[in-house]
Amino acid sequence: MPGPNPTPRNTPGRIFQASTMTAMLEGVYEGTTTIAELCRHGDFGIGTFDRLDGEMIVLDGRCYRLRADGTAGEADLATRTPLAAVTYFHGEYDWRMTEPVDATELRAAIDKWLPSPNMFYAVRVDGHFDHMVTRMLPEQHRPYPRLIDAVAEQIVSTHTDLDGTIVGFRSPTHMLGVAAAGYHLHFLSGCRTRGGHAYDFVLRSGRVRVDVGYELVLRMPRTADFHTAQLGRGDIAAEIEAVLQGGRRP
Ligand SMILES: [Zn+2]
Repeated sequence: MPGPNPTPRNTPGRIFQASTMTAMLEGVYEGTTTIAELCRHGDFGIGTFDRLDGEMIVLDGRCYRLRADGTAGEADLATRTPLAAVTYFHGEYDWRMTEPVDATELRAAIDKWLPSPNMFYAVRVDGHFDHMVTRMLPEQHRPYPRLIDAVAEQIVSTHTDLDGTIVGFRSPTHMLGVAAAGYHLHFLSGCRTRGGHAYDFVLRSGRVRVDVGYELVLRMPRTADFHTAQLGRGDIAAEIEAVLQGGRRP
């Protein structure tokens, strides 16, 4: 007999997402979903924490929090997230990269292998990186700035010659606003103490695994901030591109 809180099914291809990228653009930063609950929907994914205080990587069932002050470790299960996406990762597609590739080349190679640009994909890359540039954002305070302005305070770190794992998603263009169109990737070092939102890198060699996302479960925040935010205004495509690729105002 199932108990009162049955564990959600470990359904291959199901992505669970809390809130939307568009809500982030408009400063909806209060966490609503606990890490404990998020991790019941997947063992792999990315996101941020309450008031943008840390970059999230969920890998092999553990949720890591990397903060702008340099502290890193597993997240407290009671902490809440304002934006995260997770899935149960299986590694349906599995490729080896034996020649060095930069971020643009890796994305192009994966794009070429994928069966369709119109699906979600969970992307995992385990390998050795000659170069990895990551960023973290400092905790935000009310009145919350829009994301394009919060990103101006980002802390950028460059790591060289290290093992680690890229965790993220490739989302289709027709889901722009719910997610970023294209790749949104985070990085966690092999020692689990370095990383963040991945900007740029050179992968010397590694293993690339991808799962197709067939289902999206989207949870809207039940907060006044979300209910009253002006969602969907402006050039969403340009703003998302700017906040994910360097924070330059479009
Ligand atoms: Zn990110």
